[in-house]
Amino acid sequence: MPTTALNPSKPPLDWSQIETVLLDMDGTLLDLNFDNVFFLETVPQAYAKQTGQSFAEAKESVLGIYKKVAGTLAWYDLDHWSRELKMDIPLLKEEVAHLIKVHPHVINFLKQLKNQKLPTHLVTNAHSRSIELKMARTPIGQFFDTIISSHDLGHAKEQSGFWTALNKKIPFNPNTTLLVDDSEPVLKAAKNYGIKHLRHISTPSSQHDGKISEEFVSIADFFDIMRDID
Ligand SMILES: [Mg+2]
Repeated sequence: MPTTALNPSKPPLDWSQIETVLLDMDGTLLDLNFDNVFFLETVPQAYAKQTGQSFAEAKESVLGIYKKVAGTLAWYDLDHWSRELKMDIPLLKEEVAHLIKVHPHVINFLKQLKNQKLPTHLVTNAHSRSIELKMARTPIGQFFDTIISSHDLGHAKEQSGFWTALNKKIPFNPNTTLLVDDSEPVLKAAKNYGIKHLRHISTPSSQHDGKISEEFVSIADFFDIMRDID
């Protein structure tokens, strides 16, 4: 079934209305497969080795530990995980760093924004060590006016305080701002703040089928909105 049939009310993005672009990193610009493999395979494997548990037992323990902080800033804090799991999480990330990949069409999309001198900011829940790793492994960093981690603002993007704090740091008009993110809770918080132009990424990981949002306009990748740039 074609995407349009699943998402019949897919209005084109009117670029003439956009003055600021906010882009999420993991799952939106970069393949979420890296993060999925890291948290669901690499960390449980290391935890199994450390505790003498089987992989299945270790995975269950680790998932239980994750659950306690889901949706909060601690979830994205590598120092929190290093302390909680008693392992060097940033070092462990290096082991699977070869899986860090930019999604299709992202670089061309970012080049077009830069050519049009459209203010473009990376807004991510990722910890600074994760951002550093991803900037070193991909060419996306050069395209942003600002790179903002929610850890610097003291609120996760799912929380309303993030958007207020963000607008103090980077002045933007919510009416003329576009946010692209693969997280519906994040898009909801941005919508509540008043950000008018929202797009949901339906295929954050190259290894899983996409999921169309019921509330937001979903795009499979940036080609969907790139072609409307004149
Ligand atoms: Mg994301």
